[in-house]
Amino acid sequence: MHKKLHEKIRDHFINLGKKYKILLPVAVIGLFITLLFTKMFHYIASASKRFACAAFVICCFFIGSSFAFPIFNPDNGFVTDGSEETMIAAANDSNLNFAPEDEIESAAAEETDTENVAIKDESGVLLDEDLVYLDDMLKDLPESEEEEPKPVETAAPTFDPFDWRLTLINKQHPIPDGYEFVLGDLSGSMKCDERIINDLLTMVKAAMDDGVKLVICSPYRDLERQEMLFNRKIDAYMKKGYSYMDAYKLSSQAVTIPGSSEHQVGLAIDIVTDYYTYLDDGFADTDAGKWLAEHCDEYGFILRYPKDKEYITGIEFEPWHFRYVGKQAAKLIMDSGICLEEFWEKYL
Ligand SMILES: [Zn+2]
Repeated sequence: MHKKLHEKIRDHFINLGKKYKILLPVAVIGLFITLLFTKMFHYIASASKRFACAAFVICCFFIGSSFAFPIFNPDNGFVTDGSEETMIAAANDSNLNFAPEDEIESAAAEETDTENVAIKDESGVLLDEDLVYLDDMLKDLPESEEEEPKPVETAAPTFDPFDWRLTLINKQHPIPDGYEFVLGDLSGSMKCDERIINDLLTMVKAAMDDGVKLVICSPYRDLERQEMLFNRKIDAYMKKGYSYMDAYKLSSQAVTIPGSSEHQVGLAIDIVTDYYTYLDDGFADTDAGKWLAEHCDEYGFILRYPKDKEYITGIEFEPWHFRYVGKQAAKLIMDSGICLEEFWEKYL
């Protein structure tokens, strides 16, 4: 009877084991492998349809699935593989959207550097390009300023809510649509609302006469710059090891959200002094910080983010950030120790 191949191999190993005792282990292993492969071949052959179906299903799974790793999409800020489903899921699952206002406020109050952090270098000192010494402009300032007519003292002063000087801008009140203003030059690329330049220069000169050197930094910022600062803050957080999603959330709490900064309408000025260019609490103790806190209202400016008002402004004490509101409102605000939000609630 004609033997099959695997039977021949099997018999060959059996004979080998009988003939040479020393090759017995090799013969046993060979026999075992032969039997194993024979069994497997028979099994696969008898269930070929089943295996073909399984292979087809596995192929479909690989073709239909995406195994792309999540990537950062700079346009929409989502960490996603780009598919619509993943984007929606990411938006729903994560905290990528701005945090609720109350969260932003409390977190902002915890931050020490708030909106100005990004204009500092690594050591926390302002960069030269961010500082403006107004010496040249002060030379052109007329010696005797024509005094603005003193506001008439009344028991209940009235203010116009549409007065451009009183425009309320914060996280809850972004820059109004269609808000118009003209920029005036301070020095180099530094600009601010041209209507406040005269009062600003007069204030800087008055301080100088009192032996105090005021240095202007970061007056007007356009939306692009505000966005740059915002994105730079995100990068800084990511370098500290935060994921993009967490960095985005933290940045929206630490840096004024683009579109909600007073610097964008040229009414806010950050002021330091020549020997202290840190934007931190310490500025309040310098002679410049003290002089400003005492005299800024005489020139129409207020300390916009006072101490102990963080729970209202949402911004920590910033002794360097001054906002123009006009002399009458400034005097009222500074004398009564309120912030602009409280002023609006009470008088407008
Ligand atoms: Zn500022």
